[in-house]
Amino acid sequence: MLIPFASDATPVLPGKEFAGRVAKRGVTTSIASLHAVSTDPGFVDLDAAERAAGDLLEALGADTSSESLEDTPRRIAAMYAELLSPAPFDATTFPNDGGYDELVVAREIPFHSLCEHHLLPFVGVAHVAYLPKDRILGLSKLARVVDYFARSLQVQERLTTQVADWLQRELEPKGVGVVIEAEHMCMSLRGIQKPGAKTVTSALRGLVRDDGRTRQEFLALAAA
Ligand SMILES: [Zn+2]
Repeated sequence: MLIPFASDATPVLPGKEFAGRVAKRGVTTSIASLHAVSTDPGFVDLDAAERAAGDLLEALGADTSSESLEDTPRRIAAMYAELLSPAPFDATTFPNDGGYDELVVAREIPFHSLCEHHLLPFVGVAHVAYLPKDRILGLSKLARVVDYFARSLQVQERLTTQVADWLQRELEPKGVGVVIEAEHMCMSLRGIQKPGAKTVTSALRGLVRDDGRTRQEFLALAAA
């Protein structure tokens, strides 16, 4: 059975579709436009994943015919399907009628993702900010866009960049800042084995990158 990602259910819109609708109130851009910047919208083949999980367990010396393991391949496949399937959402934007021109910051957005090198989780928080121009975004959407890109085989650097680039492109604000702090289980449990070590990445765009005061303000808020 193929589990299509959300985008497969809706036509992929060109990125400028959003720009063409900015004159309306409460503009909604569908999840489809997210995929224009997503690296590899794919699918989870549950049957193939279940067979492969069974093969892996046997290769690791497990007895998959035992009562307690017999359903484990199916559970593994379902787990990966869940971890790799982002919830669809509509990124509703509104006109910036009040002329708000200070940073909008969502701090400590919790997320989890899967490292594409080891298929182990990395877990942490994202701080996401933008400096509005003509449009503002529903606040919960800052968290949703993090979750969307996190539910994929990832590296932290690309996750950070994808969140920043999506906001910059879809909202066309004066600037965007994203800082992500995460602990990688592939560093905590294996290899160098440094539990608690945090990896910090950032992506700054527009005035959040180029204007010294705004940049400092964002980085101070992210570090608070
Ligand atoms: Zn890793």
